[in-house]
Amino acid sequence: MKIQKVTLTPVAIPDVPLLNTKGVHQAVFLRTIIEIETDQGLVGIGESYGGARALTGMRKASEALIGLDPFHLNELRLRVESALPDAGGINAPTMLTQHQVVDAVYSAFEIPLLDIQGKFLERPLCDLLGGAVRDRVGFGAYLFYKFEKPAAYPGKDFFGEVMTPDALLAEAKALVDRYGFGSFKLKGGVLEPSLEIETMQLLRDAFPESPLRIDPMGAWRVPTALNVCHAIGDILEYLEDPVRGMDAMAELASKPQVPLATNLVVVEFEQVVEAYRNGAVQIILSDHHYWRGATGSIRLGELCRAGGLGISMHSNTHLGISLAAMVHVAAATPNLTYDCDTHYPWTSHDIIKGGKLPFDKGTIKVPEGPGLGVDIDPDALAEFHDFYRSQDLRDREDTDEMRKYIPDYERVVPRW
Ligand SMILES: [Mg+2]
Repeated sequence: MKIQKVTLTPVAIPDVPLLNTKGVHQAVFLRTIIEIETDQGLVGIGESYGGARALTGMRKASEALIGLDPFHLNELRLRVESALPDAGGINAPTMLTQHQVVDAVYSAFEIPLLDIQGKFLERPLCDLLGGAVRDRVGFGAYLFYKFEKPAAYPGKDFFGEVMTPDALLAEAKALVDRYGFGSFKLKGGVLEPSLEIETMQLLRDAFPESPLRIDPMGAWRVPTALNVCHAIGDILEYLEDPVRGMDAMAELASKPQVPLATNLVVVEFEQVVEAYRNGAVQIILSDHHYWRGATGSIRLGELCRAGGLGISMHSNTHLGISLAAMVHVAAATPNLTYDCDTHYPWTSHDIIKGGKLPFDKGTIKVPEGPGLGVDIDPDALAEFHDFYRSQDLRDREDTDEMRKYIPDYERVVPRW
């Protein structure tokens, strides 16, 4: 079996003005939908980043896939590396971490190849990763402070403006009512630390049994993070990227407080070794979009197990193909015992057949396959590709977007 065609379709999807420490989500988010066809007529699908650097990398490397056997993932890696020498990173300079183009492009193509393998073998994708150890994967409610969506922006808003602890609690209650989530993660680093502490305390009072996390994305200096730990450390499941950079994380981790998690200072295998050596983190977030695909994410899980580290799962804003892949990977990662992150409730749209994948008590059932177990709705794909073409936006830039709301906004990380 040989690959004979690769189709890349960028899409734009209406987004919601969710805040983080470097700015705010734009009017739309961008994704690339990948379709890979074999000479036997099998088609594998995938979803990845839609920004210009990632899309350009995928386009450059796609020619090199022609003639490849979809079972030869090592050869895929070699072909992607030789197609993209010195490719650098995919992220805008205002982002707080960097993902390598070769990792993102390999990952983008690996999922469709695994989808083909699953379809060929008539087995779900998770069976190619060692098999599922759970038939449902748990997700937490991903909570954001947010602006009200400007009237001129496309798509619907959720909850209007959410800029106080009370409003955030109302948002959390609404997400629980709608999806049944049993745990919470707050995207912090937005309001003064005292207000974010108050928000977490309100969540604890309202949901006494639920695991709670906060992720300020490096917004705090070490003394501020220690103050936060002193105030609410005993109610946190873990604290995600409270301070910026490996050294600051290691300094904070050396003082007794809550476990530290990261998706900013450990995003490549070499950094796992460094973080382990200096004790900078206790939990690493996997993500099949940059941890060298599903197989890389499984290897990360094993590495974390060997090092006595925990593993959780990161999310970017995404659609149902990515969600299906996340569920297969999480189901096949035995030590992934935390609820995963997902932005999925924050979008009203999808490009998969049958509409959005449903949550039940905050969990998603592992698709039965074959392969990923989800299919593209061609009309929806065409609609959101046309929408992409109608937009000027070609990259994510949260800081520029923030200046539309606050003209003199300065991105300062850490701020407090
Ligand atoms: Mg994070």
